[in-house]
Amino acid sequence: MTEVLPASTDQAEFAAELFEREILIESGVPGLYGRGAVFEQIRTGFDALVTKAAAPEGPETLRFPPLLPRRQLESSGYLHSFPHLAGSVFGFEGSEEDALAQDTCASAHEDWSEYQTMSELALVPAACYPVYPAVARRGAVPSGGFFVDAGGAWVFRHEPSEDPARMQTFHQRELVRIGSPDEVLEWRDTWRERGLGLLRGLGLAADVDRAADPFFGRGGRMLAANQRKQELKYELLVQIAGPEPTAVTSFNYHQEHFAQKYGLVLEDGSTAHTACLGFGQERITLALLRTHGFEPSSWPEEVRRELWPS
Ligand code: ZN
Repeated sequence: MTEVLPASTDQAEFAAELFEREILIESGVPGLYGRGAVFEQIRTGFDALVTKAAAPEGPETLRFPPLLPRRQLESSGYLHSFPHLAGSVFGFEGSEEDALAQDTCASAHEDWSEYQTMSELALVPAACYPVYPAVARRGAVPSGGFFVDAGGAWVFRHEPSEDPARMQTFHQRELVRIGSPDEVLEWRDTWRERGLGLLRGLGLAADVDRAADPFFGRGGRMLAANQRKQELKYELLVQIAGPEPTAVTSFNYHQEHFAQKYGLVLEDGSTAHTACLGFGQERITLALLRTHGFEPSSWPEEVRRELWPS
């Protein structure tokens, strides 16, 4: 059985209230929830606000399913850095006899993995992952680069937790920039300030901080320290429930990482750079509920106007 991260007392109380009101709908598995109407009203309101904020720069819209070719996950470096968070899809390819044995096992909720075979599919770990190979297919990156809006896609992280803000599958609103190092870094820093403004404009006490990814293992600690030192990752933090503020948005400068893997080159033949940002829509929705209360109709007028201009 997978270990489940426990919740603090106020995280557990917050979760109980969300379930009681059917703002989130329990499934029996920690981190896997349905969403009620109130939750979706807030989440989609925020999604529209991001669309509006990005519109002046005219991003290109690309959308991808919540599954990606296993080959893409393998070539992305994700399994090297985050093997503990990845998810892959298996399916049944056995005989009738195997099917019976599997069913017997499954009926008792025992482990039936021995009857399953790996498929060509994996779960999308971050909404930007399918973007790099898709854009690389076009050939050299034109002058000015690309700005892609990858939408609010479903992503998966294998980290069951009782903290309602740490879900196993959630919507990540990702924007991606591909271009020269200067273009990409300037874009990342501009959006870091813009993102901070967006959250503060919703009455959230957000702060920005240098951050590192949750790299796996001993080698991971060095990677994380390096990432911090080089200021490759920033996060926006908001107090939701629990002892520490929660990261609700991240701004990631990958340098040549993805460009090298997928052969993204600029017209002068040099390797492109990439950056992405991801608004965690569920966490931002929970932060708003925690800050302003469970009834959006009684939220401050200026917050309501931002989320639901009519
Ligand atoms: Zn990303």
